[in-house]
Amino acid sequence: MHTKTGDLVAPGDLLGAHEEWMPGEGTYERDGFVYAKVFGRVGYNEDKLEAVVEAVNPVPTVKEGDVIYGTISDRRGAIATMDITLIEGRSRSVRTYHEGTIHISKISKDYTDKIEGVFLKGDIVRAKVIQVEPSIQLTTMGKSFGVVRGYCFNCRRAMGRQENTLYCEQCERRETRKLSSLYGKIKMKEK
Ligand SMILES: [Zn+2]
Repeated sequence: MHTKTGDLVAPGDLLGAHEEWMPGEGTYERDGFVYAKVFGRVGYNEDKLEAVVEAVNPVPTVKEGDVIYGTISDRRGAIATMDITLIEGRSRSVRTYHEGTIHISKISKDYTDKIEGVFLKGDIVRAKVIQVEPSIQLTTMGKSFGVVRGYCFNCRRAMGRQENTLYCEQCERRETRKLSSLYGKIKMKEK
């Protein structure tokens, strides 16, 4: 068993094998395993042999100056939107769910021409919170900030870094990003 009743989980966390547990509310089943569909607390119902995840409401715990990790969810005009999933330095069980935005002027100290050239939907990004109210604003200025894992536009595999670009060996394809110096050095759970 990977988790026990009361544990906090994130979408994609493994809850158990389908032969042991029925997928209940807040979960889904894939290839014989039951996974969390939402952020929340796990409950194993021994009577019904059912695993559920009770969603936790987003708590406004993101503070100015926090370093966060998230996934690029959208790019529109001069704005990239990110789902914030982790705050650096907090215990692994403290997970949260927020949306933050990065303005094109806050991506890099260098001039950024197009957001399409620096972030791709699905990229995992390390960023810093520069504003919380009325909305969460982020920056990726600085060497250690930016994409820590990028996925190939073509085949969606995680790409390797080659100097200042990303390379997909499968597609022999090169892509550009605003890369973090920590690219490839951070272990994150696969969704
Ligand atoms: Zn590829």
